[in-house]
Amino acid sequence: MQTFSVKAFGTEAPETDLEQMIIDRREVTAKDVEIDILFCGVCHSDLHTARNEWHGTIYPNVPGHEIVGRITKVGDSVNKFKIGDLAAVGCMVDSCRECEQCKHGSEQYCENGNIQTYNGHDVHLNKQTFGGYSERIVVDEDFVLRVPENLDLAATAPLLCAGVTTWSPLKHWKIGSGHKVGIVGIGGLGHMGVKLAKAMGAHVVVITTSPSKVEDAKRLGADEVILSTDKEQMRANYNTLHFILDCVSAQHDVNAYLRLLKVDGTLALVGAPEHPLPIAAFSLIPARKNFAGSTIGSIKETQEMLDFCGEHNITADIELINIQDINTAYERLLKGDVKYRFVIDMTSLKN
Ligand SMILES: [Zn+2]
Ligand SMILES: [Zn+2]
Repeated sequence: MQTFSVKAFGTEAPETDLEQMIIDRREVTAKDVEIDILFCGVCHSDLHTARNEWHGTIYPNVPGHEIVGRITKVGDSVNKFKIGDLAAVGCMVDSCRECEQCKHGSEQYCENGNIQTYNGHDVHLNKQTFGGYSERIVVDEDFVLRVPENLDLAATAPLLCAGVTTWSPLKHWKIGSGHKVGIVGIGGLGHMGVKLAKAMGAHVVVITTSPSKVEDAKRLGADEVILSTDKEQMRANYNTLHFILDCVSAQHDVNAYLRLLKVDGTLALVGAPEHPLPIAAFSLIPARKNFAGSTIGSIKETQEMLDFCGEHNITADIELINIQDINTAYERLLKGDVKYRFVIDMTSLKN
């Protein structure tokens, strides 16, 4: 298979900083598009993978799965895009397309494992996939999204992971007007959860441990904020919420949040704490509550989310950085020192 070289930023080992490197991309095949990457969001998964914290990282590793750019080449059978179009790529670049989940459009739950944008298995080149911290990427058009023209492009990048990861559960549990929705944790995911749930018509209640986030939660669209460290505030809100989106990736007591749910309410995890979370049986049994989880979203859902964000003018709150600042950004990310997503201006890699 024909390949070409592009500049990228990645790491050769878990303990080394990210640095500039050269990687190969395949030349477009019939169904592929080539995208000149303009912006790439920085997801916490990037850091976990670069540092092998989830194990199984194949080196060299080039992270990045919140990609927006412009189409520079299209294969002979491509019909969704033409050269010059805006385009986006999220967490997946392919899936088996044959299993029950793929057949009904839930590629994120592909029974054979979807192909992740980075650290997945590239079936064309028979090696690891490389992500968006690079000049260009080549992807099958079926896994490429259209980007609304009216949105700020840099602030659109985080929609591809943080946006759809919160959109998918909100849609799956049919959140809309008349619902009281709790969002736990205001970070990259949580801040998108607030904006999307609000735009869907829900009454949004942010639940946070930090008094410093109260004002910002309201600015993002929260109707109410509960300080989870205040027992009285928590007690006053027992049995009031229809749904909770739990965006916290640190260890935390989910039983405290389950008490806030009404009968038949659901708490869905989208954050991924490292260790198991203990659940008391009586947090669920007396009110038939559901403890659930959800990951990213399908290609169809991702497109619906982008179109919805275009209509409602929703993007992420971002801090734009140069690729050369990525290692500092990772350190700040670990401290929660970002409001609320770093996005890399990829022209900094070209210069
Ligand atoms: Zn991500
Ligand atoms: Zn499949």
